[in-house]
Amino acid sequence: MRDEQAAPTGGEMARTPPASLAQLSPDAWTEPFWLAAAEHRLTVPCCASCGTYRMPPGPFCAACRSQDVDWHEVSGTGTVYSYTVARHALIPELAGSIPYVVGVIELDGAPGVRLVASIIDTPIAAVRIGLAVEVVWEDVEEISVYRFRPAAVSAPAAVSGPAA
Ligand SMILES: [Zn+2]
Repeated sequence: MRDEQAAPTGGEMARTPPASLAQLSPDAWTEPFWLAAAEHRLTVPCCASCGTYRMPPGPFCAACRSQDVDWHEVSGTGTVYSYTVARHALIPELAGSIPYVVGVIELDGAPGVRLVASIIDTPIAAVRIGLAVEVVWEDVEEISVYRFRPAAVSAPAAVSGPAA
């Protein structure tokens, strides 16, 4: 477990909900995702007939109804499509983890695929729509939970105000 809970001068940090809360019930359609995740590989299902990505995984392609699917590995980078800051613990197990940030992450390399995930390792004030992020993995027992943090190589530039 990283020690990212200390608040630096950059403002209130996004905290990390415990990965032990993850309760997986993989089925034939989602098991490939979690098997790859256990190897810290982010994969997305893609229709083998028409090439349309489908997430969440399911038995039929929404575009052509094919059941044939290929799993494509993606880089794990993406951008914040939307997010919210949770400041109330909906269950007692989250009491020590607030505030945390839940984001909808649009993945690079898989058009239309978005994942819901915690955004960590960042001041909450730095989270914004369009922020470049990258996946990070947390192993808990035999599964790996994905989260996202601001991408190291594309840290947001200094805020630029309107031209004077
Ligand atoms: Zn299709």
